[in-house]
Amino acid sequence: MVIGILGGGASGMAAALAAAENPGVQVILMERQARVGRKLAATGNGRCNLTNLHAGESGYHGEDPAFARFALSEFDPEKTLNWFSSLGLFTVAEGSGRVYPYSDQANSVVDVLRFALEKENITLKLGFEAEKVKKTGTGFRVESKEETVECDKLIIACGGLAGTKLGGTMSGYKFLRGLGHKCTKLRPTLVQLKSSWNGTAGLKGVRCNCRAAVYRDGRLHSESTGELQFTEYGISGPVVFEISRDVCSEKGDWICRLDFLPDIEETALLAELQRRKTTNLPASELLTGILHNRLGRVLSQSAGISQSRMVSELSVFELRQAVQAVKNFEIGLTEPMGMDSAQVTAGGIVTKEFDDKTMESRITPGLYACGEVLDIDGDCGGYNLQWAWSSGRLAGLHAGGLL
Ligand SMILES: Cc1cc2nc3c(=O)[nH]c(=O)nc-3n(C[C@H](O)[C@H](O)[C@H](O)COP(=O)(O)OP(=O)(O)OC[C@H]3O[C@@H](n4cnc5c(N)ncnc54)[C@H](O)[C@@H]3O)c2cc1C
Repeated sequence: MVIGILGGGASGMAAALAAAENPGVQVILMERQARVGRKLAATGNGRCNLTNLHAGESGYHGEDPAFARFALSEFDPEKTLNWFSSLGLFTVAEGSGRVYPYSDQANSVVDVLRFALEKENITLKLGFEAEKVKKTGTGFRVESKEETVECDKLIIACGGLAGTKLGGTMSGYKFLRGLGHKCTKLRPTLVQLKSSWNGTAGLKGVRCNCRAAVYRDGRLHSESTGELQFTEYGISGPVVFEISRDVCSEKGDWICRLDFLPDIEETALLAELQRRKTTNLPASELLTGILHNRLGRVLSQSAGISQSRMVSELSVFELRQAVQAVKNFEIGLTEPMGMDSAQVTAGGIVTKEFDDKTMESRITPGLYACGEVLDIDGDCGGYNLQWAWSSGRLAGLHAGGLL
């Protein structure tokens, strides 16, 4: 039996290795790029946050997040780490539950998978860009410009549209739609947000720890605490990715409230600023030693404090304004950056058209899908790769007749 797998990314490699555990099947893994795992090699800022020890159904989204439950429990983070260990990868978990390769290099993850793919019953076709996928009488035909591959079963693991420069495409959605499946609306998620506040460009590159809360028309939409980075057009960083899901998806007044000192009470900060009134500091240094210098100046200016005055001249009212700027700084949000900047695609192929116990299509028997192409997306912090490993392995084991 020949199992065709379209897409040599995280889920496709997991599927190929699982299917090939049956020595009686021949696996053909087709990848359009010159090497497997191109996106994987860029994950986690080059470190690859390959899973999260807390990954469970509640960290996933889509029309039916419960679809992910079975795959995630069959191949949970612990089993995933044992599997990686058996492939020769050393890993380390951070306090937050995020797991990285011990080498701190995403390439280590790609390498152990690449080496594992060197099996007699796996044929790797690199530079194979599928253009057509057809159902035949007994199986499937996959056509690239140069070559045609016939297979009995086919796993679509083409990923999503996010991270376009790293290989994100519409291919998987197109092929699955051609085989009778529906696709929900696609949106970028785990993505930078654009702001209407014109101060972000001046703070470009400044990183800080903060609590960020997104409000739509005064109602809390999402919030998180962590590292934020200012960019030319808005805000980025792990905390922004965490709050970015569906921001500006509907009309409304979208704002982000930033607390730049989430662990310090307003009264404690005010007391410190009042103490500074006894110093000889210019007002431009009011927040020096507390926040990044550039950020401190921008915040005290936005509190209406003229930078040419002295801290000793500032009134308690002005110090309170400065405290508000630090603890409750509001910026308008206009839209998320596009798919090319996003880490993940929210939305995808409708999951109720697949069997969650096997990842097989309910519409076209012998057809499977896994990974980001399906309408499942995870939280920031290793959840999306865990979904790729879990769903890919389940699809591979079933297609390979191992379950
Ligand atoms: C910059 C960035 C950083 C990220 N960091 C993290 C992280 O640290 N932790 C985490 O959990 N998630 C992270 N993600 C998300 C994660 O990488 C994806 O969710 C995951 O790779 C999805 O796996 P997949 O197998 O579905 O798709 P992919 O890994 O994208 O693989 C799909 C493969 O299919 C191939 N393909 C597509 N179309 C065709 C075709 N027509 N013919 C042949 N081949 C085709 C593509 O070239 C690609 O190699 C990050 C994403 C990005 C963009």
